[in-house]
Amino acid sequence: MPGTISTTFIIFAICAIPLIFIIRFMVRRKKRLQLLHSLLPPELEKILSKNIFPYPRLSQKMKNELQGLVNVFLAEKEFEGCGGLELTDEIRVTIAGEACLLLLNRNLNNCFPALQTILIYPTAYVAASSDIIGGKRVENAVTTRAGESWQNGAVVLSWDHVRHGVKNYDDGHNVVLHEFGHQLDQESGSANGAPPLKTYHTWAQVMGHNFEKLCGKVESNKKDVIDAYGATNPAEFFAVSTETFFEQPEKLKRDHPDLFAQLLKFYKVNPLDWN
Ligand SMILES: [Zn+2]
Repeated sequence: MPGTISTTFIIFAICAIPLIFIIRFMVRRKKRLQLLHSLLPPELEKILSKNIFPYPRLSQKMKNELQGLVNVFLAEKEFEGCGGLELTDEIRVTIAGEACLLLLNRNLNNCFPALQTILIYPTAYVAASSDIIGGKRVENAVTTRAGESWQNGAVVLSWDHVRHGVKNYDDGHNVVLHEFGHQLDQESGSANGAPPLKTYHTWAQVMGHNFEKLCGKVESNKKDVIDAYGATNPAEFFAVSTETFFEQPEKLKRDHPDLFAQLLKFYKVNPLDWN
């Protein structure tokens, strides 16, 4: 009877569709676990040793963990060369290696879950942006950029700036740590300087107080270990503080001890151990 076939088919479809999603999720999870527990081929590990400053200073356990995270990153994210840039293993592994420093030791079962694509330009690129003000789209001026993090699944980087960060790991400027810091922040649903946390009370207090302190210094033309760009807004403050935490931990601990302690609690690694 056609009516019976059609009812059976509908019941089958209702059961099968969620089942397909569950199976796909489980297969993806299993593959990710395998990658997390696999080491990189020696030629790719050499790139980590050469370009990721902390890598040779990590314990063997953490080296293995970083290799596993890089494996997942390389398998799950798409890299796209822009402006004529030809992608190489060095570009992919350097970006993945620095980004995954932010995930080390945190027992996460994901790797920048919203991120799908990394767009890489050879050097600084120009881009226009727009804001919605009073319900109307307002075009901003075209600016030169070293990197961007979008909430719709993309990070944009200038390879020249990534290389500068590799060669000058102790200057407090690192475009990969900065943009992937934004990715972590954006995981909470909005870019506001607060990544997903169990509780926000102490985080808000410490971040707010140190942000105000930086804004005060910038207004009175005083230098701080945290770059003045961090005074732009709380999201930039978190991204710039992340760069400082990883690259200038001694100075950050000396000048902003409570901020250092919060970031230590969040990132679960102590960059002081690597100097
Ligand atoms: Zn930023």
